[in-house]
Amino acid sequence: MKYEPVIGLEVHAELKTKSKIFCSCSASFGGDINTHVCPVCSGMPGSLPVLNKKVVEYAVRMGLATNCDISAVSVMARKNYFYPDLPKAYQISQFDKPLCQNGRVDFEVDGEPKSVRLTRIHIEEDAGKLLHEASADESLIDFNRCGVPLIEMVTEPDIRSSAEAKAFLEHIKTTLSYLDICDCKMEEGSIRCDVNVSVRPEGSREFGTRVEMKNINTFSGAVRAIDYEVSRQTELLFEGGTVEQETRRWDDIKLENYTMRTKEDAQDYRYFPDPDLLPIEVTDEWVESIRESLPELPLSKLRRYIGDYGIPEKDARLIAENKSRADFLDKCEKLGADAKTVTNWLLGDIAKLQNDSGKELEESGLTPAGLCALLELIGSGKISGTAGKKVLGVIFDEGGDPLKIIEKLGLYQMSGQDEIKSIIEAVIKENEKSVADYKKGKQTAFGYLIGQCMKASKGKANPQVVNKLLKEILD
Ligand code: ADP
Ligand code: MG
Ligand code: ZN
Repeated sequence: MKYEPVIGLEVHAELKTKSKIFCSCSASFGGDINTHVCPVCSGMPGSLPVLNKKVVEYAVRMGLATNCDISAVSVMARKNYFYPDLPKAYQISQFDKPLCQNGRVDFEVDGEPKSVRLTRIHIEEDAGKLLHEASADESLIDFNRCGVPLIEMVTEPDIRSSAEAKAFLEHIKTTLSYLDICDCKMEEGSIRCDVNVSVRPEGSREFGTRVEMKNINTFSGAVRAIDYEVSRQTELLFEGGTVEQETRRWDDIKLENYTMRTKEDAQDYRYFPDPDLLPIEVTDEWVESIRESLPELPLSKLRRYIGDYGIPEKDARLIAENKSRADFLDKCEKLGADAKTVTNWLLGDIAKLQNDSGKELEESGLTPAGLCALLELIGSGKISGTAGKKVLGVIFDEGGDPLKIIEKLGLYQMSGQDEIKSIIEAVIKENEKSVADYKKGKQTAFGYLIGQCMKASKGKANPQVVNKLLKEILD
């Protein structure tokens, strides 16, 4: 018997608002320990939360981008549990009335379309960070992250392999970055996910018992955790055992997991509406104005690149999944450049420059206007392709006007007919034998003469022009 994996994901993303969700402390990552804190986010008795409107707006953006229904009224709820990184002993989250519901995420896995239903997206606050100093026999707490806004996106159990899970997570990350609502810095924990895994006999319609692994902070880690858990459950079932519903901790260094706790129930959290916060009401007009402000999303870009510009699918994907590249391409296209040519430069020489320097496109000196100007100079034969690459390197490092750089480096290609003609005539005079050979029909002699002309021009003559003029003169 074969077993099929069934996977559901809960993805947490930190929103990049200026301030925290219920107070005016900075929500930015890092900072000296316990400097982004106030009575509200450190849970002092008597302090009162005030909801940050931007958090709702950002969550609605994600909800609209994932085809969710946006609730006209949603409710903040207290999720009670005690852990020292949570000073109030409850997390303000949402329970039965989340902000967004019934969504659908469309993406592709190895070129095949896939849809995953989103049960919900809700908003909540992040917890602080425990610092376990190896040298001390005590733990310290940094509350800077406490109260940083999060959205939690919960999928239906629609995912069937670790590859699908990875493609889904990558799609979510790309979408968050397009919407400009999350830093998407994995190393800072901006996106974390819990994976829920069960297996069932292939062809079965019922689900098996699920195991949850929490707080996985890399996508490759999620893949490893899923693959491990699928094998563990499959082997267990083959041996006649049963899967326990539990939370297991994934250890991404030892590459194994172990029981953390048997599953808590929702009732263990004693959820109830937070009496300090009013229900959140969003009007249709506001939601519509947010919808209108949404940028074009990656899947639509991908289709446009393939359909309208004829860019090969693999290349189109490499552009569309990277917002800064896609923006760059779109701007060049608006300036009149050929999208395919720009794509080749972006994925070729420019990608190499980025790799070597570790710079994002926007950190380099290259602008869409700069690249377009350069491409025009190459296209019109004013400089050669090779010289163009040299100029690109300079602009990438330090910016500047391609024309000035070309002049400074003396890279102009000689295209003037008269100038080239006089070089050709001199070469013909000095190579009578080759000229005679050519007239007898020896093609290699022609190539030799071209080479001599290029050499005489110190490589600056436009080869196409040389070719054309030499033929005219000889014939
Ligand atoms: P909890 O908060 O207790 O983890 P939720 O209902 O919020 O519970 O999340 C459940 C997650 O587990 C969802 O992503 C859902 O798709 C997934 N899930 C539910 N049942 C199964 C199952 N049998 N196998 C795999 N995943 C499942
Ligand atoms: Mg869960
Ligand atoms: Zn605060």
